[in-house]
Formats: sequence, structure tokens, C-alpha cells
Amino acid sequence: MIQSPPSNSREPKTERLVCDLAVIGGGLSGVCAAITAARAGIKVVLVQDRPVLGGNASSEVRLWILGATSHMGNNNRWAREGGVIDELLVENLYRNPEGNPLILDTIILEMVVNEPNITLLLNTAVHDLEKSDADTIKSVRAFCSQNSTAYEISAPLFCDASGDGIVGFLAGAAFRIGAEARDEFGEALAPAKANNGLLGHTMYFYSKDTGRSVKFVPPSFALKDITKIPRWRDIKAGDYGCRFWWLEWGGKFDTIHDSEKIKWELWKVVYGVWNHIKNSGQFPEVETFTLEWVGTIPGKRESRRFEGDYMLAQQDLVEQRPHADAVSFGGWAIDLHPADGVYSAQPACMQWHSKGIYQIPYRSMYSRNIKNLFLAGRIISSSHIAFGSTRVMATCAHGGQAAGMAAAICAKDKLQPRDLLAAPRMQELQRDLLRNGQFIPGVSLDDPADLARRAEITATTELKLSALEPSGETLPLDASWAMMLPVQPGAMPKVEFLLDVTAPTVLRAELRVSSKPGNHTPDVTLATQEIKLVTGARVRVPLKFAAAMDVPRYAFVCLMANRDVSVHLSDQRVTGVLALAQKFNRTVAKSPRQEPPAGCGIESFEFWIPQRRPAGKNLALTIDPPLEVFGVANLTNGFARPTNQPNAWVADFSHEQPVLRLVWNEAQTIARIELGFDTDFDHPLESVLHGHPERVTPFCVREVVVAQPANVPVAAGTRGGGAPKSGTERLLFEIKGNHHSRQVIRLSRPVTTDCLELRLVAPTAHVPVALFEVRCYAT
Ligand SMILES: Cc1cc2nc3c(=O)[nH]c(=O)nc-3n(C[C@H](O)[C@H](O)[C@H](O)COP(=O)(O)OP(=O)(O)OC[C@H]3O[C@@H](n4cnc5c(N)ncnc54)[C@H](O)[C@@H]3O)c2cc1C
Repeated sequence: MIQSPPSNSREPKTERLVCDLAVIGGGLSGVCAAITAARAGIKVVLVQDRPVLGGNASSEVRLWILGATSHMGNNNRWAREGGVIDELLVENLYRNPEGNPLILDTIILEMVVNEPNITLLLNTAVHDLEKSDADTIKSVRAFCSQNSTAYEISAPLFCDASGDGIVGFLAGAAFRIGAEARDEFGEALAPAKANNGLLGHTMYFYSKDTGRSVKFVPPSFALKDITKIPRWRDIKAGDYGCRFWWLEWGGKFDTIHDSEKIKWELWKVVYGVWNHIKNSGQFPEVETFTLEWVGTIPGKRESRRFEGDYMLAQQDLVEQRPHADAVSFGGWAIDLHPADGVYSAQPACMQWHSKGIYQIPYRSMYSRNIKNLFLAGRIISSSHIAFGSTRVMATCAHGGQAAGMAAAICAKDKLQPRDLLAAPRMQELQRDLLRNGQFIPGVSLDDPADLARRAEITATTELKLSALEPSGETLPLDASWAMMLPVQPGAMPKVEFLLDVTAPTVLRAELRVSSKPGNHTPDVTLATQEIKLVTGARVRVPLKFAAAMDVPRYAFVCLMANRDVSVHLSDQRVTGVLALAQKFNRTVAKSPRQEPPAGCGIESFEFWIPQRRPAGKNLALTIDPPLEVFGVANLTNGFARPTNQPNAWVADFSHEQPVLRLVWNEAQTIARIELGFDTDFDHPLESVLHGHPERVTPFCVREVVVAQPANVPVAAGTRGGGAPKSGTERLLFEIKGNHHSRQVIRLSRPVTTDCLELRLVAPTAHVPVALFEVRCYAT
């Protein structure tokens, strides 16, 4: 028995933790920062005030994770974020294609607890801190109500990923709340005068069909008059979860300290909406439906934004301004909402897209006045307008990875965040990020430690793309369609399509490119052709445009809408080759062409977007001369996804089990091999609700054998040359059932060899083997 005499006061049990980096906030930015830092070898404490991880992506709020791909509704091709967030989304696709938020929770938790360098504190809220001097945080204090334990966490470096920026606030870091005036950064979208208007919170509900009649008696606090919501006619019986993103409120309040008040108003709205669905009589189809879940924590969109050494602004996004310290990127639209939210008569959001993705600089990821504080997530240093884009979770997570990697470098070399700006530290940070799957637009991996760069790489096959064979399926040209073809400088190859024509007509074809070679907005028309067609089936239509390409880039061969014409499709798919329609996705755009008001600093352009699988097939065609852009040189060019070219080695369709050989002119000791696969970076892989028709993306190679072959070919340039050496074959590693973008193969014992062989198996008969990169390391 434990007995304690009365006392005037008692202290809670206190644990003191010391680490290299304390990450506060277990949303996706904090999770990705913590995992990245831990994998880079430093000790991390991750503090999360709620019972599970993921922040707004968790089962407590249930937002789908999105980023630069914007639901595939913008022109940012192959723009899904890389690294840890990619690993998470690809694993979620594999385990949870139905988009169950509870399964997503388990994946995030598993990824964190699998890292031995992370100490995870759940249900633990940071509420106080101590500084060692005016500009330096020494420790943070937190409390877990579940185990009634206080924590004091000391570290040389802190990362605030708490959404509201509790650590930055308590430490005295410079921050802002509200919208900047137009003059401050010259942002044409900004209001003339600064104001306090914010994006509000939202609560979601899930409903489900029980199969028997269910009555709903609303709580007394539910909204009684649904017409108080100007958009009430948009309420659909079958909608739930993220589709009600516009049930938003609180943007005119203090979104931090009034959060509980905002929550009550949102409960009022949610139960009022469900009451309308169940009891208004307008939706007899929901007779058997019940409420399955209602959020208890509001999803927060906006509160503090902290000041770094650079504040990202509208022009950085729209003009895609380059930054020497780029460590991440964004691509979601500038997505701003009226501060009155659900009670506003204005449209619920205004989304303005850029023509391509934009870089995010490292200078936006640490506090300008608290020396040892990294910023991650929605609090990074950006204006209110730029925040409209940077705030989405995959972008936040990708930035978190950059902060985590920077922290690892700082911790190992006893540096402060700002110290990494100087060369060669910034190159080191960028290189470490790229090595781990981060994508930084325009920055290629230049890795001196990579032994594959010194090898002569050959393959038993290389695709020369001369045709995508027709499957027999056709697509009416109800909209304009284009094939995105990666072309090299010089004359545009002849492209021939196969058409069914139901009445004599004139078909217009256009050859377009993007004004910036790295973008995928076909905003420049190089040549047009008008083709007279007579009625007929399987009519061959050759297009020979009198145009030349200046640099390696994508050519958009467009067949403009024509209701008398259908185009034949192909079941064949190739990495870095896509068909697009000049359509729009209502979730993220209002029309097939973005038409902003004059003078708002946003560009007009057309959306050309792919269809989702199982549709989204290529147009059948022939190409003459064939496209020779899929060679082995791509494996070491430093890019691990399509950009202005596919950047992949691709085998011919006829080679189902191609072999890749790396031959060195002297023996190398290899302990680790890293491979980059095509998991379709064009696909956003929405994490919840959406659902996907596949568990593994069709381009992804699932089986690889790594071997030291018996007959070692001689590397070109080897002194003496001669016949191949022969010995005994050694199987070094086997991958089966891969579904990830990256595989890191750690050999049980390093191998010393002058030749490695990789044997790969094509995913299906319609999809050839593709690989973005192979890297080999001595340790
Ligand atoms: C309704 C709504 C719709 C949105 N739509 C989308 C969308 O469709 N797709 C998308 O990607 N993004 C969307 N966003 C934006 C996105 O959800 C947020 O901007 C994003 O979650 C911010 O990430 P974060 O890691 O900074 O913060 P969060 O995800 O909020 O994570 C911060 C974490 O820190 C924890 N924390 C806070 N204070 C403390 C403390 N004192 N101690 C310890 N832990 C603490 C919180 O509990 C939370 O788990 C939407 C936001 C809302 C609200």
C-alpha cells in the first residue's frame, strides 16, 4: 500500500530527456522531420499532444494528404513529393487503397516506432520552455495527462511543427497572423491594406448505410435553419469527410485561443447539416444511413506564420523564381477562402494555379531571430498569399524532411540552422536530401560517393519508342487530347494516329510545347495542321509538323476536339509518356482554362490533365524516327523521376526480363545498392476517402535479382582488354513484391567485384521495365 500524508503541493513525476533534435508536433511535417533526422543518425524526441500521429491527416480530422499534384487537376506532371512522405503514401496505397483513416494511422505510427533513434511521446503537450540566452532555446516542458508525467526535453536544436507554432511563440520568434498588405511584397493578389482575416477551421463527419431504417434526433445545439448556410443547396446526401471541406468557420476569430469556441460552432454546423440530410425530406435515400463519426478536434488551416530569413511570396510561386538554397517544392494552387467561411455568400475558395511547380528555399525553414529553431509545416516563412499554397500536407511534409536533414547536419557538426547557407554546406544538404528521395526542381544529384557513376553501364535492351499498339478501344474526341512525347533537339518526329471518322470533317492538330522546358503547360503552339478526313474506320493520320525542338523537352501532339472523330487507344504504358485531355477537375479548378481577373498577378492558361486509372490510357500511335530517350545514361543523370525528359532507363516491350550490367575497370567494394523505381509520381495517392483501383502502380518493377555474374564482361577502356573473365555466379540479393519508389539494398557482407548484374522482371506485358536510378556505395 502507498500512503502519502497531506501536503501543500506536489510536483508531478518528471522525466528529463536529452536529444539532438526535439520535434514538437506530430503532424506530417513533424513526422517526416523526425524520421529523416533519425535515419540520418541523430537522436530525436517527437512530441505530439494527441493520441495518434498525422495531425490533420490522422483519423481524428481525416483530411486527404495532397501536394503539388493537386488531385491531378493542374499541369504539374510527375510532381508527387519524394522521400519519407512518398514512402508513406505508397505504403498506404498498398495496404489501404480504400482510404480507411484508421489504417493510415497505423502506417504512420509504425514508420515512427520503427526508428530506433526516435523517442515518441504521444498525448504530450508542450506548454513551456527555457532559454539559455535571448536567442536560444535550451529545453521545452511538456505534460502527458494519460500517464500524469511531466517531461523536460533538452536539445541543441528544436523543430516547431505544431501548426500553431507553440515553441516559436513561447521563445519569442518573430511571427505574423493575418494577411500582408499588397505593398509589402508587391503581391498583386494581396489586399490593399493588411487585415486579420484568416482561413478557418473545419470539422468533418462520416455517414454509413446500416441497411435498416435509422432515425436521427439532433442535439439541441445543432443549426436549425439550414438556409443560414448560403451554399446549403450544394449539400448532397452521399457526401461526407473531405468533400465537406467548405464547412469552415472561425477565420475572423483568434484561431488559436478561440479554437474551442470555433469547434462548438462547427459542431452546430455539422449536426445541422446532418439533420438537414436526414430530416428535411429531400433525401429519402438516406433513410437507412447513420452518423458513423464526427470530428472532435477541428482541422486548423491558419494561425501564425513565422519569419525566416526569407518570406516566400506570390511571385516566387507564379514566376517559379529560382533559389540557390532550394530544398523543397510546392505546386498546390494559391488557395484562399473567405474569412466568414460557411456563412459567407462568396465562393468557398479561390484557387489560382501556377504553370508549374516552384522551389521552396531553406531560408524559409528556420526562425530569423531564434538561432536554434527550425520551422516546419504551415508555419514556415511565407506570406499569407504564398501560404495559400505551401500549407497542404504533402508540401508541409516535404519541407519537414528538409528541416530534419538540415538538423542532422547541424547536430553532427555543432552548427546552427543558418550556418548551412554557406557553400559547401548547402550542396551537402541538397545532396543528402536527393540521396534520400527528395525531389528539388532543377537540382540534380551529384554524388561523388556513388560508384555507379564510375561504371560502364549496359543493358540487354533499351526502348526505342516507335509505336504504342492499338488495343481496339476508342475514345471520342469530345475534348482536345494530346500525347506528351519526350523529344530531343532537332526536327519533330512524324507521329501517326489511328482514327475512326463518322462524317467528313476537318481535324485540327497542333504541336505545342511549354514556355519553360521544365514545365508541362502546353502554352506555346509551334505548328498546326488541318487534315481533311472522310468517313472511315481505322484511318491512319500522319502528322509531320514543320518545327524543330530547341532543347530536350516534352512535345504535346494535340488532336483538337472534333465530335466526328474517335481516336484509338493503347493498353501499353511507358514511363514518362502520358495522354492528356484539355479538361478540368472541378475539385481544383472552375473551367478548362484558368482566367484570373486582370492585374492579380496570376497567369491565364489551359489545363491539360490526365485521366485517372483504370482509364488514362495512351493514344495509339507510331513515331518516326523512334524516340531514343530511354537509355542507360538516365540511370546516373541525377534525376529520379520524369522532368523535361523521362530520366529512366526503359527496356523494350519484347524483353520481359532485361539485364543491366555495371562493369568497372577495377574491382570495387560495394556494401549498399540503391534503386529508384517508377511508382507514378504523377499520381497524388490521396490518403483517405478517395479510394484507388490498384495497390501497386502499374509502372513499378516488383522483382529484381542482384548478382555477381559468372562471366564478367570487360569494361570499355580497360587496359589490355581481352576475353571475358569467368568465375562462379553469386546471388547477392533478391527483391520480390516491391511496391516502393526506392529500395536500399544493404548486402549482408560487402562484395568486392568489377561487375554487378541486375535482372529485372517487367510489371506486365503492357508495361516494360523502367528504372530511374542505380547507385552503389562502399559503406
Ligand atoms: C479543413 C481543412 C482542409 C484542408 N484541405 C487539405 C487537403 O485537402 N489536403 C492537404 O494536404 N492539406 C489540406 N489542408 C491543410 C493542412 O491540413 C494543414 O495545413 C497541415 O495539416 C499543416 O501541417 P502541420 O504539420 O503544420 O500541422 P498539423 O497537421 O496540424 O500538425 C500539427 C500537430 O502538432 C500537434 N501539436 C499542436 N500543439 C502541440 C503542442 N503544444 N505540443 C505537442 N504537439 C502539438 C497537433 O496536435 C498536430 O497533430 C486543409 C486544412 C483544413 C483544416
